[in-house]
Amino acid sequence: MPYEATTRVVILGAGPAGLTLGNLLHARQVPCVVIDKFDREQLVGRTRAGLLEYRTVETIRRLGLADRLLAEGHRHTGCEFRFTDQRTYTDFSELYDGRAHHVYPQQEVVADLLDGLVKAGGDVRLGVAAERLEQTADGVTVHLADGSVIHGDYLAGADGQHGIARASTPAGATTEYEMRHEFQWLTLTAAAAPSAEWTIYAQHERGFAGHLLRSDTVTRFHLQVPVGDTVESWSDDRIWDELRARLAHPGWTLNEGPVLTKNMLDMRSRVAEPMQYGRVFLVGDAAHIISPSGGKGLNLAVADAVELDRVLAEADLAGGDPAALDAYSERRVPDVWKAQEFSHALLHMMHTYEDEAPEAAFRQRLQQSRLWQLATSDAYARSFAASYIGPLPVGG
Ligand SMILES: Cc1cc2nc3c(=O)[nH]c(=O)nc-3n(C[C@H](O)[C@H](O)[C@H](O)COP(=O)(O)OP(=O)(O)OC[C@H]3O[C@@H](n4cnc5c(N)ncnc54)[C@H](O)[C@@H]3O)c2cc1C
Repeated sequence: MPYEATTRVVILGAGPAGLTLGNLLHARQVPCVVIDKFDREQLVGRTRAGLLEYRTVETIRRLGLADRLLAEGHRHTGCEFRFTDQRTYTDFSELYDGRAHHVYPQQEVVADLLDGLVKAGGDVRLGVAAERLEQTADGVTVHLADGSVIHGDYLAGADGQHGIARASTPAGATTEYEMRHEFQWLTLTAAAAPSAEWTIYAQHERGFAGHLLRSDTVTRFHLQVPVGDTVESWSDDRIWDELRARLAHPGWTLNEGPVLTKNMLDMRSRVAEPMQYGRVFLVGDAAHIISPSGGKGLNLAVADAVELDRVLAEADLAGGDPAALDAYSERRVPDVWKAQEFSHALLHMMHTYEDEAPEAAFRQRLQQSRLWQLATSDAYARSFAASYIGPLPVGG
């Protein structure tokens, strides 16, 4: 039955960005409605990220929703790089004041944030898509597919890269900076116990391979594949042959198991500046896409939500001053570019350039220099560790 509702903040999207913001606003008793086109089962069925920065874990902990994360997730303190018959282990945590990542699948983060918000009495409306949004000087109106209408003072567009918040940006209101990378990944999860207690990035003449932790029984793997390849050309046998060859190291064994999911990854990066127009704020993937090499996408989405909550609180204190609202983009854009720069450098450090790529041999030697510096220079490794673990949470 179509309805009409009014709230303070309409949050479009119940991914990590939208649900974090919903929890933060609800905790401050700011009226808000979270809308998603998916139902709960679909939302918690999407396997994506799994590497949570220190500040992301702190945010979830401060919301009082980290019990399962801390009990079932794994502290992740280091990475191994394999290249040209060598291996080097970098203890990021030791280099960064004992801070660490947590490995905890994105779908579990979404489940905890969603269930926590619903249990706290938050207004979450699932299973209906938003079709259109309108903005006036006084507020924002969202039209849903079932004919319902929701009015708000502000809209948080946390509806991902293909959502309507980004698509509704008026011409000239933001500038999009975009880059397509010359690499492609086949990414998969397998029902196999991790083969090491840490992430492994391997640079091999046949291409990059990555081993990433997800749980005691599931491991995520990435394989660099020729640009244009399709999932159909990668049988499970071919995948395991490549993983065995690229990750090989004397005395080390790869645990294998049934492939659960496999997808080709679009290697694109994009940033919208500013991350807002009028009363609409772009949050998470709606504002920026980042190559998956550094595991930053979910973490940036949560950090955006934290900043937007802070700015809305500050603007309320300033009597709704529009200048106070501008602080959202001003504060988030530098952090987003820092993560872009790090992910770009990591991507280019570990990938194999196709022979015909311009200056491939020169670029490969630059890669080797970076890996060598990581293995031998404390200053280089500390800087790398700080970027990998990510900044401290707002407020320390
Ligand atoms: C294979 C893979 C591995 C990754 N690994 C990592 C990692 O290790 N670490 C990391 O930090 N990041 C990683 N990422 C990136 C991360 O998953 C995303 O950056 C993250 O999901 C962004 O969160 P979000 O809330 O902004 O958007 P999403 O999670 O995309 O959520 C957007 C929500 O909006 C809803 N929506 C869209 N349109 C509408 C509409 N019209 N009406 C209503 N609802 C709508 C969608 O249903 C969705 O639930 C990975 C991504 C992939 C694909």
